[in-house]
Amino acid sequence: MNNRNQMNLKLQKEFLGFLERDNENKNENKNENENENENDNKKILKKEKEKKIKQKKKRKRHNEKEKEKEKEKEKEKEKEKEKEKQKQKEKEKEKEKEREREKEKERKNEKKELKIKIKKSHNKQWSDRIYNILTADSNCKNDCKYCYMKAMKNRFFQTDLEDFTLRVNEKKVNKGWRNNKSKPKLFMFPSSHDIFDQIVDDYIHVSKKIIFAGNEVLIVTKPSLVCIKQIINQLSNFKKKILFRFTITSDDQDILDYWEPNAPSFEERLNCLKLCYKNGFNTSVSIEPYLKFPNTLIKKITPYINDYIWIGSMSGLNTMKNIKIDEKKRLNTLYHFDNTLKLVNEFKNNKKIIFKTSIMSKIINNL
Ligand code: SF4
Repeated sequence: MNNRNQMNLKLQKEFLGFLERDNENKNENKNENENENENDNKKILKKEKEKKIKQKKKRKRHNEKEKEKEKEKEKEKEKEKEKEKQKQKEKEKEKEKEREREKEKERKNEKKELKIKIKKSHNKQWSDRIYNILTADSNCKNDCKYCYMKAMKNRFFQTDLEDFTLRVNEKKVNKGWRNNKSKPKLFMFPSSHDIFDQIVDDYIHVSKKIIFAGNEVLIVTKPSLVCIKQIINQLSNFKKKILFRFTITSDDQDILDYWEPNAPSFEERLNCLKLCYKNGFNTSVSIEPYLKFPNTLIKKITPYINDYIWIGSMSGLNTMKNIKIDEKKRLNTLYHFDNTLKLVNEFKNNKKIIFKTSIMSKIINNL
């Protein structure tokens, strides 16, 4: 090999070395650049990420605030609704008060009306005079448990309560009657006993005398068909001078059997009423003491009444001896103010009905 070639080879080697080093440098630079770029990218990404996080947080805060606002709005709405409800309730309360005031007004008017009616009927009297033909110590055979006459006779005459002998007071039967035509009186006859077949002739005899003297007779009885038929037959010419008032205290025979053990049955009394009515007599009924709420009884007797129906309660119930406890309880409930008021309200517009003092005073005192 010549020198020239050797030089070329050397140059070639140097050139290759140079290229190699250059490449290396380039690669190094490239790597450095790449690293720098990568770092830059990372930074950018990090920044982006941070930015996004920030934005996200911001959005979140914003959303939360919006939600809060929404909630506030909801709360406001709820408050408004609550206020509206409250207003509605206030209105309802006011309406309720108004209704109460109206009711109270009605009640007052009702009471006023009731009191006037009661006072009016209170002025009506059964009779001007009373008359009896049995001696004062004779017990009434009907033996009603609530009979105040029985207790009185026993107290004042020491009568034997089991003795039902009818002792007629001859003096009273044979008494002469002064003409009273200028001042006729209504005689309640009898008032302290009843009319029985043993005394019906005397009864008719005295009734005629009372009527001939110019008076009228109010026949108060728990009627038996035997007696009423005779009275109708013998006093038919004096229809205008006679008013029958039959005592019918209940239409429940079991109740009558207990309280009025020897008196005619309900059916018999009703038949007597029908008979008198059909024969053109003046008829009325006394439901005193009423032993049951008298609505059904009133329905049954009303068609045969051309005068009045009187209703009264029992007096002295709680001091009565030998009365079943259940019966006392039942009647105390029946005569309780609320039920008495119910009775009066139910029949206050019935023009045929008059309430007696026992009922009227209870109502007046409690209204
Ligand atoms: S009918 Fe009259 S008087 Fe005779 S026991 Fe009865 S309540 Fe007394």
